Amino acid sequence: MIISIASGKGGTGKTTIAVNLVLSISNDNSYDCQFLDCDVEEPNAAIFLKPNISQARPVSILEPRINFTKCTFCGKCAKACAFNAIAVLKNDIKIFMELCHGCGGCSIACPENAISEVSRDVGVIESGNVGKIEFIQGKLNIGEAITPPIIIREMKKRIKKSGTEESKIKHITIIDAPPGTSCPVVESVKNSDFTILVTEPTPFGLNDLILAVEVLKKLNIPMGVVINRGGKNDNIISDYCQNEKIPILMRIPMDKDIAVAYSKGIPMIQINPKYSDKFKELYYKIENQLQISGEI
Ligand code: SF4
Ligand code: SF4
Repeated sequence: MIISIASGKGGTGKTTIAVNLVLSISNDNSYDCQFLDCDVEEPNAAIFLKPNISQARPVSILEPRINFTKCTFCGKCAKACAFNAIAVLKNDIKIFMELCHGCGGCSIACPENAISEVSRDVGVIESGNVGKIEFIQGKLNIGEAITPPIIIREMKKRIKKSGTEESKIKHITIIDAPPGTSCPVVESVKNSDFTILVTEPTPFGLNDLILAVEVLKKLNIPMGVVINRGGKNDNIISDYCQNEKIPILMRIPMDKDIAVAYSKGIPMIQINPKYSDKFKELYYKIENQLQISGEI
């Protein structure tokens, strides 16, 4: 089962939920857990999980190089580029590398065979373990703007397939998605069995939750909400969820001890073990909901 954790905006506690969820369910020997930190621009789950990283593999794209001795400046490469990354001038060609997705379309379109492709590293995928949890995180190289989905796609190739029906061990992948509703978020949550949307009970929280819900509806992914730093203002979220028929799966109150632990990189289940049961309940609610709807 793949459960992604997302939020319409940063700072809602999305990583906190993802980390505590995986730690809580991995205590049960009937679950084999994987954790993917897909927030490749700012991965921070490792601060809390403290993984033992044993492998780092670069992720690269192929970018075009023009052989000007062959080029006739016909402009076919620029027409073929869906990302407007090539401009053909009278006697020159400009390639805007920050727009190039490394798709290879221009080299296929060139009738003179004047475009070769060279490899450029755009980030790295690190992997290791946190106890028996397999840990994978992507890191984007500084200055890269359009390549997060490429790294996320590579990371998701490592998601383990579910076990056979006879197998007693259930495989669960927790994906910590980037904040927001842009392409990297879509790439992260795509093909999830369920997405947890983490929000806080403020007008900004509601606004960004509505945007995230719209994205998940388009992707046809079942969803539920966790209200973090809740309290007397929860109604702003619960009224919306009731109207939209989205279940509220968990409420975490504003708690100074949790905030202090967070600032020290300590998961909340380690300062207050009762939360471990609450996160297990969160998982069971998701599992029940998917069983009822026939998704699993
Ligand atoms: S398609 Fe080939 S020949 Fe034509 S402008 Fe581009 S690189 Fe030059
Ligand atoms: S590799 Fe793809 S994105 Fe990059 S310049 Fe060529 S056609 Fe455009």
